[in-house]
Amino acid sequence: MVEVTPSSREQVFAKLRSRLSAQTVFRTNESLAKRTTLRVGGPAEVYIEPASETDLSTILRFSREHEIATMVLGRGSNLLIRDAGIRGIVICLSQPEFSKITFTGDQVICGAGAKLKNVSVEARRNNIAGLEFLEGIPGSVGGALRMNAGAMGGSTFDVVESVRYLDAEGVIYEKKGAELGVEYRCCSALKNNIALSAVLRGRITPAEMIAQTMNQYSQKRWKSQPAAPSAGCIFKNTPTIPAGKLVEELGLKGTRIGGAVVSDVHGNFIVNDRNATAKDVLDLIAIIKQRAKDARGIDLHTEVQIVGEEVSHEHTQARS
Ligand SMILES: Cc1cc2nc3c(=O)[nH]c(=O)nc-3n(C[C@H](O)[C@H](O)[C@H](O)COP(=O)(O)OP(=O)(O)OC[C@H]3O[C@@H](n4cnc5c(N)ncnc54)[C@H](O)[C@@H]3O)c2cc1C
Repeated sequence: MVEVTPSSREQVFAKLRSRLSAQTVFRTNESLAKRTTLRVGGPAEVYIEPASETDLSTILRFSREHEIATMVLGRGSNLLIRDAGIRGIVICLSQPEFSKITFTGDQVICGAGAKLKNVSVEARRNNIAGLEFLEGIPGSVGGALRMNAGAMGGSTFDVVESVRYLDAEGVIYEKKGAELGVEYRCCSALKNNIALSAVLRGRITPAEMIAQTMNQYSQKRWKSQPAAPSAGCIFKNTPTIPAGKLVEELGLKGTRIGGAVVSDVHGNFIVNDRNATAKDVLDLIAIIKQRAKDARGIDLHTEVQIVGEEVSHEHTQARS
């Protein structure tokens, strides 16, 4: 184990850079707000797009050896990153090596970095039905696996045959979907492991029929969701009432803190209107949770993943 003091941190990162291929993207102090759909949050201390599984394994082994935290970023559509950003390494599997989509019979083999939209469109082109619900979810395959994302009555793991993933030691596993501890909007096996790819299974169906379903889903979605920047649904639905309906019944639609507003279109969306900070969004979340508890005795749990460091009090004072 190597101790990393703040003064040696830059040298340690330079050493990591020197062990990675030239095709791997490596940046320090990289803005993450622009990499999330909510458009808030501070920078990543180090941001890496590995070009290969070999580089990804090197990053994981190195981070472990030097006790540097890592996290995976998909397309940032279910993330609320705090304002002081992320200390450590943010890994994004957006390079072509991780974004391939191929087909065998009724199976779709897709890299974790592939966009869900592309998966559903390519499946349609290849006459494979069953993946239409992924069409309007603005995430990656990796994010959808981690979150067991779902829409229009379908969930990711309904169509997953198997997942290939990497653990923190850099060891690769391939497991059946049923072995991965899946529940509503969560796959616990991927909390500390990185999904590399998945095999999805659909049904051979004429492309025109698939197109019809996708169009219906798309129209339904755009009538019921705000177009402004958001992270999708902020809260998980409760067993007794959908979170959006609850927020609406509590009269909280339109409530604003700074640039963060509860959407008028859908009560479970907080939109970024006029330069919200992560703190604005977090404060609004706290108000909604408190009201739900006080008025209905309901504990709301966030679906959005909240990560990163808070701006320290000292820092806030120094700026004011
Ligand atoms: C307008 C809008 C509409 C949405 N509609 C829906 C919807 O209908 N249904 C729904 O379920 N969600 C919806 N979402 C939320 C979001 O799109 C999904 O949760 C999506 O699956 C997140 O994917 P991502 O790639 O953006 O993940 P990110 O937001 O980048 O990450 C989410 C989590 O997944 C982890 N992760 C990412 N990649 C990997 C990987 N390769 N291995 C392991 N962990 C990984 C991250 O570390 C993080 O914990 C919506 C969001 C928006 C903005």
